[in-house]
Amino acid sequence: MAAASTVTDLFSKNAVTRLPEGPRPRGTTPLTLSFENVSMTYPDGTEALRDVSLDIQKGEFVSIIGPSGCGKSTLARIASGLLEHSEGQVYIDRDHLAFTFQEATLLPWRRVMANIELLMELRGVPAAQRRRIAQEQVDLVGLTGFENRFPRALSGGMKMRASLARSLSLNPSVFLFDEPFGALDEITRERLLDETSALHRVKGFTGVFITHSIPEAVFLSDRVVVMGARPGRIAAEFAVDLPHPRTSDMRFTPEFAAGCVTVSKALRQTIHPTGDAS
Ligand code: ADP
Repeated sequence: MAAASTVTDLFSKNAVTRLPEGPRPRGTTPLTLSFENVSMTYPDGTEALRDVSLDIQKGEFVSIIGPSGCGKSTLARIASGLLEHSEGQVYIDRDHLAFTFQEATLLPWRRVMANIELLMELRGVPAAQRRRIAQEQVDLVGLTGFENRFPRALSGGMKMRASLARSLSLNPSVFLFDEPFGALDEITRERLLDETSALHRVKGFTGVFITHSIPEAVFLSDRVVVMGARPGRIAAEFAVDLPHPRTSDMRFTPEFAAGCVTVSKALRQTIHPTGDAS
């Protein structure tokens, strides 16, 4: 696909890049998720998405950011297969898709381990294998020692870790995150963002992260896609040039701040296209 502008480039040029109209060129890297001219109108006539085209490449981490009500969750629900789009084409390997929402959605009567095993159980994975895989994920997300707790005895951050572990147990090739950390306090959120970035490196999944937080999007992503107000459409996109691994300290660098400014300006442009974006 066409190279996106980098956040640092755009910051220095003080510009917002608009994507070209029409079909998008395909690159040589394999795609894991592709939206082609996707539109979505709800039965009550609400036009949530108009002509959205987006290719996400294997192993890429892409954040989708936009004002509230611009159709981010609609896009995520279409990708996950929970919602049928009205027009266009969607390509995704749903056999290896995992998703995490704002709520951890743990079953209150099951202990942590049993919650993490749930999806594998539904897929008929034998008990011993389930247990082994669940324990690996528990260790990976930092819940070791809490396996036998019920969800009510976990903090919000720990519940979200359990939710992540449950999704990771399926070894997803695509991981869809729909504002998973929005309800958490800032310190917990930053830790979970650090860990999500590390998980992406370890597991190598393709990440799609829906958010309305600019620092979250810049911190995690290889690419930030900015959506415009309803009907949702893609207004701009930026490659994030920060090196990997992303560390907590990176949040204090001028490059990180520059990335946030660039995305912020693009977002303001989508909300007040003719106004002052500064
Ligand atoms: P975002 O995630 O960006 O906040 P959503 O995808 O949730 O936006 O919603 C996009 C638009 O579609 C909003 O105007 C919202 O009110 C509307 N919408 C969402 N779900 C439905 C629905 N089930 N029926 C009708 N309109 C809906």
